[in-house]
Amino acid sequence: MQYYSLNHNAPKVSFSEAVIKGIAPDRGLYFPEHITRLPQSFFEQIEDLDNVEIAYQAIQQFVGDEIPEPELRAILADVLNFEFPVIEIEDNIGALELFHGPTMAFKDVGARFMARCLGYFNKDNDDHVTVLVATSGDTGGAVANGFLGVKGVDVVILYPTGKVSNIQEKQLTTLGQNITALEVDGVFDDCQDMVKTAFLDKDITKNKQLTSANSINVARWLPQLFYFLFAYKQVKNKGKDIIFSVPSGNFGNICAGIVAHQLGMPIKQFVASTNVNDTVVRYLETSKYDPKPSKATISNAMDVGDPSNFIRIQKLFNNNFEVLKNTFSAYSFNDQKTREAMQKVYKKANYVTDPHGAVGYLGLMKHGINENEYGIFLETAHPVKFLDVVEDTLDTTVEIPPQIKKVIGKEKKSVPIKSYKEVKEFLLQ
Ligand SMILES: *Cc1c(COP(=O)(O)O)cnc(C)c1O
Repeated sequence: MQYYSLNHNAPKVSFSEAVIKGIAPDRGLYFPEHITRLPQSFFEQIEDLDNVEIAYQAIQQFVGDEIPEPELRAILADVLNFEFPVIEIEDNIGALELFHGPTMAFKDVGARFMARCLGYFNKDNDDHVTVLVATSGDTGGAVANGFLGVKGVDVVILYPTGKVSNIQEKQLTTLGQNITALEVDGVFDDCQDMVKTAFLDKDITKNKQLTSANSINVARWLPQLFYFLFAYKQVKNKGKDIIFSVPSGNFGNICAGIVAHQLGMPIKQFVASTNVNDTVVRYLETSKYDPKPSKATISNAMDVGDPSNFIRIQKLFNNNFEVLKNTFSAYSFNDQKTREAMQKVYKKANYVTDPHGAVGYLGLMKHGINENEYGIFLETAHPVKFLDVVEDTLDTTVEIPPQIKKVIGKEKKSVPIKSYKEVKEFLLQ
């Protein structure tokens, strides 16, 4: 499979090049040249297939022959070794739990897949890649865990001091080996700016192959389509029209769901649910894309003012606004509404949502689900990742799962950073 830049000013590349480069030289996002529908029989018989088989059939065309079948299957078996249950919390409403992986966020799937692909590409050479990533919380932990010990890959994570939760900080600062955490005196936007500056800094790029591990990288973005298929397999026999609500920040997750739809998966509607960072909601109302600086909320993994994957979503709908509006809607909710939804679900169904999942639930409610429909919202992180907000809102305690207990006792190691100059010195040392 060849990938082209959505800025149309860079050469086409193979899957491996797209993964290693992360972003095209013209700063465009890579996009697959073709998306070929899977045979009807795949969806008719999906309940007979295990998750690894489903994932293999879905991703094979995007990888092509660059990873041979046995190795690709082995990578998938390793990446997908946990559960993706749809938990019914009301009639015709289910939560797709994506938090059963090692860092308890959906980002484990993409981060682990990307790490194993890079490891495969580096196995017979001495090439070195530096993964540089800014995090407001969940990305850092998933990337650190996914890339730990991968040959030929160094990971450098920038995070804003005092702005990530205690558990999230432990997840990204305690692993050691090929993982380094830079603790930046600033906010998330400062970390993101430093990463962007480094990617454009010729002193660095002529010495080092840098790549990104957020959802602009095709190997982090595309595997996120797997669990839309896993959800379909679980609810298909209800015989209802399926509506997905995806709590969205950079819109990588929902964009992968739309790819699953284009592979032939029957989905009636996509609902993008956001917090008050509502750039896409306003776009659907006005047809003008007008990004704004991000605002801080309790669903902070979605505090994004200019979602990087929205351009891919527009492309998936052939840049046709009317076509997009047929199957794609978007709603925005403030923190007050989010807390009320968490309380309502807890009271009615005795189910604890994290603030992001609660925004997804609100999206389904606003869209409305009739008796012929089944609504699924993505529960993108375990409530323990946002412990303070959850315990405060629900007036309850959340039990700490074993994955989290393991890191809480470990010693934090980070490199303090005051300015871009120090990041540059670190990368060049
Ligand atoms: C990253 C993240 C999101 C947003 O996902 P996008 O793919 O960026 O839209 C939502 N919820 C949680 C918990 C996250 O970590």
